[in-house]
Amino acid sequence: MQAEEYNRRGKELVDYITQYLGSIRERRVIPDVKPGYMRELLPDAAPTEPEDWESIFNDIEKVIMPGVVHWQSPHMHAYYPSLTSWPSMLGDMLADAINCVGFTWASSPACTELEMNVMDWLCKALGLPSFFLHHHPDSRGGGILQSTVSESTLVALLAARKDKILQLRAELNQDVDDSILNARLVAYASDQAHSSVEKAGLISLVKIRFLPTDEQLSLRGDTLKQAIQEDRRRGLVPFMLCATLGTTGVCAFDKLSELGPACAEEGLWLHVDAAYAGSAYFCPELRWSLEGIEFADSFVFNPSKWMMVHFDCTAFWVKDKYKLQQTFNVDPVYLRHENSQAATDFMHWQIPLSRRFRSLKLWFAMRSFGLKNLQAHIRNGIEMATLLESHIKSDPNFEVPAERHLGLVVFCLKVQSANPFYL
Ligand code: PLP
Repeated sequence: MQAEEYNRRGKELVDYITQYLGSIRERRVIPDVKPGYMRELLPDAAPTEPEDWESIFNDIEKVIMPGVVHWQSPHMHAYYPSLTSWPSMLGDMLADAINCVGFTWASSPACTELEMNVMDWLCKALGLPSFFLHHHPDSRGGGILQSTVSESTLVALLAARKDKILQLRAELNQDVDDSILNARLVAYASDQAHSSVEKAGLISLVKIRFLPTDEQLSLRGDTLKQAIQEDRRRGLVPFMLCATLGTTGVCAFDKLSELGPACAEEGLWLHVDAAYAGSAYFCPELRWSLEGIEFADSFVFNPSKWMMVHFDCTAFWVKDKYKLQQTFNVDPVYLRHENSQAATDFMHWQIPLSRRFRSLKLWFAMRSFGLKNLQAHIRNGIEMATLLESHIKSDPNFEVPAERHLGLVVFCLKVQSANPFYL
């Protein structure tokens, strides 16, 4: 009886979701509500007695939908793309039903192993270096799914910091407190980098210098080298660069081909944030900005933006997994298992212990679309952006102040002071 009820309710919700997504373009994208709107729609405290599902279900339209921003609507143009797809949603549905907590290989072998294999698929499909592969004879690296790019950048910064502190300790050959060494460290990013880089610095108490960019809003090698020299003269220890491929503002690309060799010469960890643009690398003709990627120590992008694998899903690769493990390994006895030596335990690659079975949605999506359709999807997005750009350029009221890259068109109203309708 109970199973029948679950089944009926489940199907009812799937029908609701299909209907919601099928008619989403008719909904107003941004809700017309004020802060606190929900207060009067809900009781003050949770019900003591169980409520019937019918009334809970009916409250979706009454309580939730009036305050939803419909990110999947074709009329939604705010922030950045956050696409989903039916295989991705079904993947998470299954993951939620299995609800395993895959912190170690032993806590759910399929969770760890699918993630390792799918991250290798993704690495190859994007044309990233083979040192990021789990399964490659010469590789010490691998990929992991994290919750966000922000968290991955923090993870990269913590790993780079740990590595540099260990190096400094070995050089100094004396017992200096880590906090004293930490205070000497400095990391770099461009003045176009996402605020998550600044946040990683705030959390880790590490100085970050935001360096000026060129007229294309790209960070260049000479600017980085000059900053490194200045900081060394001031007694600081440069240890990391966070380069961006596809900046949030205008989708500019830092010049990896210059920055990579500079990082290698100066002993800096090169972390690459390609949050949005990463999906474009499915298409070989769009890989020009990856020149220099062979110098990267870590690379991150969000399949949850443009790849139709919904949030949360952030793909993060490192060249040397041992550098992550030396940062995050706490190894309590109650989490050890008989395959600890032979298997990958992702709890040593991340900040939290627990982790979701995120790779299922990636696996479902990659198989259902095939690389061919993923490439076509990216190319179609770029074609549409090019068309939009041509319309905007032919309208005298608008201007395009920055070069269009990929699917991002930056435009604004022209200032026409002679016209009283414009400021
Ligand atoms: N980095 C870049 C370049 C971004 O554009 C964004 C989001 O827009 C982020 C990082 C933050 O991503 P997340 O929300 O996954 O932390």
